[in-house]
Amino acid sequence: MEMPVPSPAILARKAPIVERLRAVLPSGAVIDDPAETRAYECDALTAYRCPPLCVVLPCSTAEVAAVMRVCHEERVPVVPRGAGTSLAGGSLPTADAVVLGVARMTAVLEVSLENRFIRVETGRTNLSVSMEVEAEGFFYAPDPSSQLACAIAGNIAMNSGGAHCLKYGVTTNNLLGATVVLMDGTVVEIGGPEGEALGLDLLAVVCGSEGQLGVVTEACLRILPRPEGARPVMIAFDRNETAGDCVAAIIRAGLVPVAIEFMDRPCIEACEAFAKAGYPVCEALLIVEVEGSEAEIADQLRRIADIARGFGPLEIREAKDGAEAARIWLGRKSAFGAMGQMGDYICLDGTIPVSQLGPVLGRMRVLADGYGLRVANVFHAGDGNMHPLILFDANSADGLKKAEALGADILRLCVEVGGCLTGEHGVGVEKRDLMVDQFRPEDLEAQMRVKDAFDPDWLLNPAKVFPLAVSAGRRAAA
Ligand SMILES: Cc1cc2nc3c(=O)[nH]c(=O)nc-3n(C[C@H](O)[C@H](O)[C@H](O)COP(=O)(O)OP(=O)(O)OC[C@H]3O[C@@H](n4cnc5c(N)ncnc54)[C@H](O)[C@@H]3O)c2cc1C
Repeated sequence: MEMPVPSPAILARKAPIVERLRAVLPSGAVIDDPAETRAYECDALTAYRCPPLCVVLPCSTAEVAAVMRVCHEERVPVVPRGAGTSLAGGSLPTADAVVLGVARMTAVLEVSLENRFIRVETGRTNLSVSMEVEAEGFFYAPDPSSQLACAIAGNIAMNSGGAHCLKYGVTTNNLLGATVVLMDGTVVEIGGPEGEALGLDLLAVVCGSEGQLGVVTEACLRILPRPEGARPVMIAFDRNETAGDCVAAIIRAGLVPVAIEFMDRPCIEACEAFAKAGYPVCEALLIVEVEGSEAEIADQLRRIADIARGFGPLEIREAKDGAEAARIWLGRKSAFGAMGQMGDYICLDGTIPVSQLGPVLGRMRVLADGYGLRVANVFHAGDGNMHPLILFDANSADGLKKAEALGADILRLCVEVGGCLTGEHGVGVEKRDLMVDQFRPEDLEAQMRVKDAFDPDWLLNPAKVFPLAVSAGRRAAA
C-alpha cells in the first residue's frame, strides 16, 4: 500500500511547528518524543505504521480550533483521531502530519430525556454514552463490537454500525447535530436536537466523511427508551448457503429483528474454544434477536422458527432466560479476540444485497481456495454487511500481500453483485485504491469537489479515501 512522500520542508520545520503548538495548548498536550508518538503510529489496521510529526491532545473545541489555525498557517496535514480502533487505517498518520486526538474530550454536556438527546464531547467512548442514560431506561443504539473502546468521534467519521443497527440504523440515523472545526480553525454548528435547519443536509455530509472535511468535537445524539425485553434464538445449519438463504427469507417475510448475526464453521470453532458458549457443531450459525413485549417476542420468534424450519436447520435454540441469552451472545461478541488466537487475519467489510448472501458465500469459498487461504465469516447478515476474516501467516514473505489480493477480489465481488466496498468500517487506506472499482471517474470527481469546498488545501487526513492517482493533481496543486 503506497503512501505519499512526506514533505521534506515540513520535516525540517518540526521544531518551530511543535513550539507553536505548545504555545496554544496547555502543558503536556503536545507529544513529540518518538518513544511516546509510537502509540499513535497505527490504528487497528496494524499492518501499516508511520510515526507522525507530533501528537496533540486538546481538551476543548477552542483548543482544537487553535491547533487547526496553526497547522493551516504552517500548511501541515492533520490526522484526526478518536480511539484508534479503525480497521481501515483511517487514522494512520503520515510522517509530516500532526495527529489530533480527541481522547481528552469526554464530557457529557447535556442530557434531555424529554427531548431524547444527549450532547457529548466526541472523545467519549460509545458504550459510556449508553451507560450515562441507562439508569433512566434509555440507550444509544449504534453498537459497534468495539464499543468499549471506540469513540463517538470515530463513529461519526466512519458512520459506524453494529449488531443492533438492523432495526435502529447506523450512526447517521442517530446523529442529530455536530460541532465541527474546519481546517482554518472556523467552528461551525451543524444540525442540533431539533433536527437539521432548512438548507443542505450537511450533517449527512459530515457523517461518514472519514476526517476529510473537519474535526468533529461535539455531538448531539438521539437516545431511545430501552425495549421492554429482548431475546435471541440460535439457528444452526449444515451449509453456509442455506443459512444465507434463511436470512433472506426472514427479511423477505417483513420481519425486522433487532439483529441477525452470522458465523461460519471456522469462526464458530474459534469462538467455542475461546468463550465456551455451548455452540453446536455445525457449518453455519445464525443469532437472531427480537425485542418488544413478551407477547411480541413470542410471536416474532415463532414466525422466525417457522421460516427457519423450511431450510432444514440442525438445531433451533431459543434463549430461555437472561443467562442463556448472554451465553449465546458471548461467543459472537468474542469473535474478533477468538480469531486473533487462531493467527493473523485481516478483517474485510463489504456489503451485499441480502438476497445474494448464499451465492456470495459460495463464490467466496472458491476465491479463497484459489489463493490457498482460509476465510472465516462473522457478520451482520440482516443488512448484508459481511466481515470475512482472511487468515494468513504474517511471517511468510508474501502472506499479507496474498491476503490483501484475496480481500480485493472479495470486495470486487461485493460490488459486482450490487453491494459496496464498505458497510461500516469506512474506506481509509485499506479500500482507497479499490474506489475505482465502485465509482466512475465523474463520481469520484464530484466527491473530491466536496472536499475542495471544506478543505481547499487538502490538508485533512491525507492519503485516505481517494485513490492516490485520482487525487494526485489536487494534492500537488495544494
Ligand atoms: C475488535 C473491533 C471490532 C469492531 N467492530 C466494529 C463494528 O461492529 N462496527 C463498526 O462500525 N466498526 C467496528 N470496528 C471499527 C472501529 O471501531 C470503528 O470504525 C470506530 O468507529 C472507530 O472509532 P475510533 O474512535 O477508534 O476512530 P479512529 O480509529 O481514531 O478514527 C477513525 C476515523 O475517524 C476519523 N476521526 C477520528 N476522530 C475524528 C474527529 N474528531 N473528527 C473527524 N474525524 C475523526 C479518523 O481520521 C479516521 O479516519 C471494530 C474495530 C475493532 C478493532
